[in-house]
Amino acid sequence: MAKQKFRTEVSQLLHLIIHSLYSNKEIFLRELISNASDAMDKLRYLTTSDNNYKSLEFNPQIDIKFDNTEKNKTLTISDNGIGMNKADLVENLGTIARSGTKKFIENLSGDSKKDSNLIGQFGVGFYSSFMVADSVEVTTKKAGEKTAFLWKSDGKTGFTIKEVKKDSYGTEIKLFLNDQGSEYTDKWSLENIIKKYSDHIAFPIYLHYTEKKDEKEEQIVDQVNSASAFWKRSKSSLKKKDYNEFYKTFSNDNENPLLHLHTSAEGTLDYTTLFFVPKVAPFDMQNADYKPGVKLYVKRVFITDDDKELMPVYLRFLRGIIDTEDLPLNVSREILQKNKVLDKIKRNSVKKVLKAIENLAKKDKSKYLEFYMQYGVPIKEGLYQDYENRELLMDLLRFRTNKSNEWISLADYVSNMKKDQKSIFYITGENYDTIKSSPLLEACNKKDVEVLIMDNEIDEFVFSSVSKYKEHNFKSVNHSDALEELQNDDDKKDSNSCDPLIKKMKSVLGDKVKDIKISTRLTDSPSCLVADSSDPTAQMQKMFQQMGQMNMPAAKPILEINPKHKIVKKMLKMSKTKQFKDSVLLVYEQALLAENLKLENPNEFISRLNRVLEKSL
Ligand code: ADP
Ligand code: MG
Repeated sequence: MAKQKFRTEVSQLLHLIIHSLYSNKEIFLRELISNASDAMDKLRYLTTSDNNYKSLEFNPQIDIKFDNTEKNKTLTISDNGIGMNKADLVENLGTIARSGTKKFIENLSGDSKKDSNLIGQFGVGFYSSFMVADSVEVTTKKAGEKTAFLWKSDGKTGFTIKEVKKDSYGTEIKLFLNDQGSEYTDKWSLENIIKKYSDHIAFPIYLHYTEKKDEKEEQIVDQVNSASAFWKRSKSSLKKKDYNEFYKTFSNDNENPLLHLHTSAEGTLDYTTLFFVPKVAPFDMQNADYKPGVKLYVKRVFITDDDKELMPVYLRFLRGIIDTEDLPLNVSREILQKNKVLDKIKRNSVKKVLKAIENLAKKDKSKYLEFYMQYGVPIKEGLYQDYENRELLMDLLRFRTNKSNEWISLADYVSNMKKDQKSIFYITGENYDTIKSSPLLEACNKKDVEVLIMDNEIDEFVFSSVSKYKEHNFKSVNHSDALEELQNDDDKKDSNSCDPLIKKMKSVLGDKVKDIKISTRLTDSPSCLVADSSDPTAQMQKMFQQMGQMNMPAAKPILEINPKHKIVKKMLKMSKTKQFKDSVLLVYEQALLAENLKLENPNEFISRLNRVLEKSL
């Protein structure tokens, strides 16, 4: 029998798991039990939905046995779930099907507590058994098939698979424990770990052991877990601690959740939901192929954990359960997709979740900020994905401003508004610090007008589609005309005297800019660049380009000049010399730089700058 090698990433991972998670090694049992439970969930679903499996006798249970009498101590976990055939074994235990592996490795922090938490998230749970075992044997037979197989590995070099005899379907995992694992052959320690991590597993977990009674060895089998659907227990009987423990087993996260929300509805619809917000955003939250975190149950029976329609995309960070009495057990994927019952549950749930988040914002400011730092981006996505809840979502937004480093809400902003201010001003750009010192803000700073600073890539996109909060329009300071309502007569008086200068400047800059205008927003800088009122900003264009949308026609910026600035005043008097040309270009180029944009030709810029320096030194 030839030995098959692990795929490289598996070896790498095994090495990491064994060496970095060592201090939290007991979680291997949680992982194996959760796999057994998943396997039984899958089979139970088939027995209700697939005619080929309907006649199958199915009494789901997990059995745990240990042997500490021999030199080679062993621990065996068996289930009567779906089982695996040869191809499944190679695919599931010999490779890592998920793209998460690489990310997992990148995410390892060296802190074993944090890292063991990643194990579950990244779906590499089975391999944790090699923390406590020198070798592992998996004997398994797939339900509905005839042949059983034995998979064997030392967790280092590779694995072998051969045909064996096994009467019943399901999987038996036998660990040949190493020194670190020898403590797991003791009734008390096993019972403890199972209770700690797996109490809520919906299937009975039996622990087999022997006890001396009247000089005789007696075989005892105890059910260790309570095996009730946790979410069906009454809210009043559950403490925060219970929710935290359940969450950890359910989601394989080692941290307590930031928030939980347990509701049950009776009446026209009968359902229970339990949602959690993880403390740290799931690693795949920003991937298009994220794994959904909400599982669907019907009458306590697991149906699917792979339905992205259960929750809106922007709430993909939620973990939890929807359990309904109003669907048949044998629902198919197609039925799920356009299902009125599920739609209703989804709508109600989204509202409830958003309300709970809003509540957190009201009750605990610092915890809410923790939430917002993790989930601010998906909440913003919600603004254009979920029109129905836009108002609620808007109230969840937080921003820093030109006036303060504190994160404020839109309601805060409005209450701070100047007496005659009508619009909500915001500015977008690459990062908080550069935006904060942008010349575009000079007038607002001087007039003490607050401007929301938006430094996330999606902000401009989001806020060009969201036009209002309450009765206040959003206005982007990056656009020309945005500040019109702030202008006073003094600003307007500034003159036609610049017209000839503008004309001369245009002939130098040509089609680099869409237009040149007198600015009312500048105080300290000679110039700045803005987008025409209906054009995307240069930042946004850059983003589209990065996303491969190259064929969007480039929209040229408008150059604003400050008529009160010394340089501009001097330029007014200059004639069309080489020095004038240099000055015009430098005034334009510094505006580009201030916006964090690329110079078209840095070398020419440097020559110009040096010519000017030579003159002035
Ligand atoms: P995950 O459970 O996140 O998928 P694991 O490493 O824990 O990752 O398991 C890998 C895969 O091996 C599972 O997805 C499943 O297909 C298979 N598997 C593991 N244990 C069992 C089992 N007891 N019965 C059937 N399949 C199993
Ligand atoms: Mg698993």
